[in-house]
Amino acid sequence: MTDDCIFCKIAAGDIPSEKVYGDEELYAFRDINPGAPSHILVIPRRHIPSVTDAGPEDAELLGKMMLRANAIAAEEGLVDKGFRYVLNCGEWGGQTVFHIHLHVLGGRPLAWPPG
Ligand code: AMP
Repeated sequence: MTDDCIFCKIAAGDIPSEKVYGDEELYAFRDINPGAPSHILVIPRRHIPSVTDAGPEDAELLGKMMLRANAIAAEEGLVDKGFRYVLNCGEWGGQTVFHIHLHVLGGRPLAWPPG
């Protein structure tokens, strides 16, 4: 837990969120400013600022994030039509919260390339 991190506080329940999933290692919640009908963020409870800060010791955790996102996408009914995972990295990547979060976006056709 990092005191000044909003996603650490959300995972700890200190800031309210619309929970989608939680276990010992992971937490998932609906984005407060959704970019699509389904927009969920999957985060590790442990504070890692960006995926570029992850090391070999985080490989299993990152894998669990992907598999949990798959389960959430299925629960949201996104798999048949297709959907998108997004990991924004750093300033030019559009990252605004520096605690790893995997965006699960779907429920409408999504344009490519992104802005
Ligand atoms: P990124 O730009 O990739 O860092 O994504 C950060 C995301 O966090 C944005 O889509 C925000 O809408 C979302 N967000 C910020 N604060 C909250 C919050 N309190 N609850 C839910 N989502 C949030």
